[in-house]
Amino acid sequence: MKTIYLDNNATTQVDPAVFEAIKPYFTELYGNPSSMHRFGGQVGVTIKEARSSVAKLLNCDSDEIIFTSCGSESDNTAIRSALNSRPDKRHIITTAVEHPAVLSFCKFLEKKENYEVTYLGTDERGRLDLDEYRKAISPDTAIVSVMWANNETGNIHPIEEMAQIARDNGVIFHTDAVQAVGKVSIDLKSSAVDMLSLSGHKLHAPKGVGALYVRKGLMFRPLLIGGHQERSRRAGTENTTGIIALGKACELAAKNMETENTVVSRLRDKLEAGLLAAIPDSKVNGDPENRLPNTTNISFGYVEGEAILLMMDQLGIAASSGSACTSGSLEPSHVLKAMSVPFTFAHGSIRFSLSRFNTEEEIDFVIENLPPIIENLRKMSPFSAEKEGLACTGPGSMQ
Ligand SMILES: *Cc1c(COP(=O)(O)O)cnc(C)c1O
Repeated sequence: MKTIYLDNNATTQVDPAVFEAIKPYFTELYGNPSSMHRFGGQVGVTIKEARSSVAKLLNCDSDEIIFTSCGSESDNTAIRSALNSRPDKRHIITTAVEHPAVLSFCKFLEKKENYEVTYLGTDERGRLDLDEYRKAISPDTAIVSVMWANNETGNIHPIEEMAQIARDNGVIFHTDAVQAVGKVSIDLKSSAVDMLSLSGHKLHAPKGVGALYVRKGLMFRPLLIGGHQERSRRAGTENTTGIIALGKACELAAKNMETENTVVSRLRDKLEAGLLAAIPDSKVNGDPENRLPNTTNISFGYVEGEAILLMMDQLGIAASSGSACTSGSLEPSHVLKAMSVPFTFAHGSIRFSLSRFNTEEEIDFVIENLPPIIENLRKMSPFSAEKEGLACTGPGSMQ
């Protein structure tokens, strides 16, 4: 059975061109880029090119890019660096809708290290309130960390404006741009963003590589201390294949982003419109005016998201649900909770996230096959808010 992969915000297929580009670095070109000999040195040259490709996509300088192992490491590094470089400041501003890589870390800092954290809320469309943000900034604020685009709804936040507000107040601004890079045009030279995280596997490079942009002149404190790799900003022998892959993926994104976005958003819109028209009591979560081109998060009222996922899985359709199983009960996602999506709708939410590898036929297949699934599920088990101990397959949350 062929998989219809509509879960690209969780991870993406490695682009075949990316795979081709890294193959030799697994076989013949396995040298250590830090070695003195030419055998290692030539790998160092390719890493330099990769760094320049990443920088070009973001419009920043090569030496502002630090390679890491993943988006989570970049996020943790950025926040920890800001806190360590301003030890007198004890306040952090973030949002209630961040990815766990930021949110769980902030909760940890709050509980275990006595930092004060402000979690900015959203309206029912997931939009942030800039007045609430301005009021939250205080002389004690060390860092603001706000995601560029939300992984569950695809919502794009006004990052440039928020970064400028932080700068006007002398506060470091970090953005988790893992979902934005490759889908949204980013120009760091003309922005006030101080640090930005990205992750390879969300833009058609393999898992296990990420990058952190750190603005030139910003005080930086490394998380990993050891060898002099990454100009002593991130110790550890370079993940050469991952880095070269990320460079290639960024090169492809820079070249194709605009045309791809048009194609992908057309397919996304078709899927969304098709499902909304065919399925009563369904609605989109998020801000349709300000959204990634590849994402739609749809609530199908009065039916369990996990049940929908299982039924779709039978047909080879892969997507994500907006609820996570915690301690035997289904918890609606923290993002939908922050948006005050009603319980019976939050539970039946499905995130479809497309990529350039999806086809019109796949979208037609979903539009044809999902409505009867929902109809049957609604018939079989009329949703009841009191229902306890819903079938649960194990812990999980949206990536
Ligand atoms: C996937 C994701 C991350 C984590 O990236 P990893 O490379 O998997 O650690 C962080 N933030 C957002 C918004 C993501 O979607």
